Amino acid sequence: MAPVAQEWERSGRYPDEIVDEMKAMGLFGMLVPRQYGGIELDAVSYSIVFEELAKVWMGLSGVLGTHSMATRILAMDGTDEQRSRWLPGMATGEIRSGLALTEPGAGSDLQGITTIARRDGGVYVVNGAKTWITNARHAVVLPVLVKTDPAAKPPHRGMSLLMIETATAGFDIGKDLPKLGYRGPESCEISITDCRVPVENLVGGKEGSGLKQALSALEFGRCNIAGRAVGVAQAALDLALAYAQQRHAFGRPIAEFQAIQTKLADMAMQVQAARLLTWWAASKLDRGERADMETGMAKVFASEVALQASLESMRVHGGYGYSAEYEVERLYRDAPLMAIGEGTNEILKTVIARHLARRS
Ligand SMILES: Cc1cc2nc3c(=O)[nH]c(=O)nc-3n(C[C@H](O)[C@H](O)[C@H](O)COP(=O)(O)OP(=O)(O)OC[C@H]3O[C@@H](n4cnc5c(N)ncnc54)[C@H](O)[C@@H]3O)c2cc1C
Repeated sequence: MAPVAQEWERSGRYPDEIVDEMKAMGLFGMLVPRQYGGIELDAVSYSIVFEELAKVWMGLSGVLGTHSMATRILAMDGTDEQRSRWLPGMATGEIRSGLALTEPGAGSDLQGITTIARRDGGVYVVNGAKTWITNARHAVVLPVLVKTDPAAKPPHRGMSLLMIETATAGFDIGKDLPKLGYRGPESCEISITDCRVPVENLVGGKEGSGLKQALSALEFGRCNIAGRAVGVAQAALDLALAYAQQRHAFGRPIAEFQAIQTKLADMAMQVQAARLLTWWAASKLDRGERADMETGMAKVFASEVALQASLESMRVHGGYGYSAEYEVERLYRDAPLMAIGEGTNEILKTVIARHLARRS
């Protein structure tokens, strides 16, 4: 990826050739059980894959992020028929996917969504809209969060996930949203009008579990976001160190100035702390335990480290750090997404605090 990342990201070129390589490596099947052709990675290895990808091009890791969460949803909560139907193709990447939760009027407050699925015999008739859906244009099928009982109280009891084939009439992928960074994969608006979806596509075959299914996949998702953040932060450190050793001022390399050394040392400690926190949270998932709090901590901490490290690396680069021709500028544009996606850091801190209170 390294030789093309800078140029392709800048031009907005879709990385088809790299996606083909990722298919050949089995990366689309990271969370697919072996019996369906996947490689069934543990959560620690999964987060390391995202770290390694993001070290070179964070945007590209988005091609695998929500796809892998869709596979996780089917593996954990799908019916046998749903698993056999979709997982083998998703494991090879022939069937691409993503995850459609967010709406124009509701992101953090998912219980406030207004996409409705009304049962009509053997189908659900779905109406609503989604936004920011990454990989939507390349997806063959998407898990879509809907309300099957809009009057339910609390609202999550009336929420379900429907696997909607993107070619279904009335399911229209709109424009690619222009973004600060995270270029490579597309993030799109979707409008859904009288879209008829077979009842067999209801994840798990039972209404009312959709929010729970989505949130438990987000636990894994947070390991991938934390991994990406560690990758971006490590890249920022690597670039800063290399630049500081070769840039001279006042007759010596700037790496010899204490002000620069302090920045490098702080970055190195923060990056390693973020990495270890990520592995610690992921290992809890690998022991089969719930890890909302731990994955939340890893995601929040690592994303704040990525933000800080990309800014500090830019400062080490001086004026060149502000140049669009230097790689550090891309890290600076990519870093903020990790503080927003898979639960904003503000929301996750409330989750962490709730868990702390429960355990005290
Ligand atoms: C590039 C990109 C790709 C994305 N890809 C996907 C995707 O593939 N699928 C998908 O479903 N979504 C996707 N999203 C959407 C993303 O998950 C949401 O943007 C995110 O969850 C926040 O929701 P929101 O934008 O509606 O912000 P809001 O929920 O409106 O929040 C606005 C601000 O208010 C704060 N806030 C809200 N409620 C509280 C509270 N209770 N306590 C404290 N603070 C609060 C938030 O932290 C934030 O700072 C993507 C977003 C981006 C930018």
